[in-house]
Amino acid sequence: MKLAVIAHDGKKADMVSFVMKRMNFFKRDDVELVGTGTTGTMIQHAGLKVDLVASGPMGGDAQIGAMVTEGEIDGVIFFRDPLDKHPHDVDISMLLRLCDVHDIPLATNYKSAHIIIKYFKNK
Ligand code: PGA
Repeated sequence: MKLAVIAHDGKKADMVSFVMKRMNFFKRDDVELVGTGTTGTMIQHAGLKVDLVASGPMGGDAQIGAMVTEGEIDGVIFFRDPLDKHPHDVDISMLLRLCDVHDIPLATNYKSAHIIIKYFKNK
């Protein structure tokens, strides 16, 4: 299964801690990760293999949206920061919309991500 990981700046520490707490799952041979530039690099530094796309504001969310459309992504974990402004708001909306269009599990906060990973663990 291929999961996409994205975190806005105010949520990147949460994302790293989320992934580190579930290392056994994320290290599984059948789990692949793709991440936006900065988020993905931070997760790589935590010890995981992550395919990188561009940074979010440079089009990374749009690239992941395209992958969702191509049927390449099984789930998206997107820790959004609802208290900050984002120059790439339209790309973010596009990604969320495409997840809905293609019925792809999408978690936009820590607790829903926890539930999604629990689901994938048992799949
Ligand atoms: P980043 O992109 O991981 O490259 O910071 C995430 C975003 O801001 O959408």
